Amino acid sequence: MQPLDQILLILDIDETLLYAADRPLERKPDCRIGPYAVYLRPFLTDFLNQVSQHYRIAVWSSSSPDYVESVVNSIFPKWIIPEFIWSRERCITRFDPEWHEQYYIKDLKKVRRQGYNLERVLIVDDTPQKS
Ligand SMILES: [Mg+2]
Repeated sequence: MQPLDQILLILDIDETLLYAADRPLERKPDCRIGPYAVYLRPFLTDFLNQVSQHYRIAVWSSSSPDYVESVVNSIFPKWIIPEFIWSRERCITRFDPEWHEQYYIKDLKKVRRQGYNLERVLIVDDTPQKS
């Protein structure tokens, strides 16, 4: 059991931990997840092993629940048990009037409602507008 004051590190998936392509790039993918050719960020497993020794880990992606579950099962070492694994269903939607499209927001109030102190939360995401 990890100490409760340990920082919670919330990791995004796409473009943060890996790149999932509809069609393979010029080099062979590291793995396949569903229909996607997946390229892991270099040293991803080392990174996950290292951060899990210092932080409590969680995953929050704006992708579908099935995809998120498959990714976590495929790329996380078995001994890392994330505090939570959240997908699009835990995001809220906003409308971008300039691009005329909906986008997803990770509202940290949802994390606070789970009892986490937001002063002890780090979120790593390639899309700043998501949180
Ligand atoms: Mg991302």
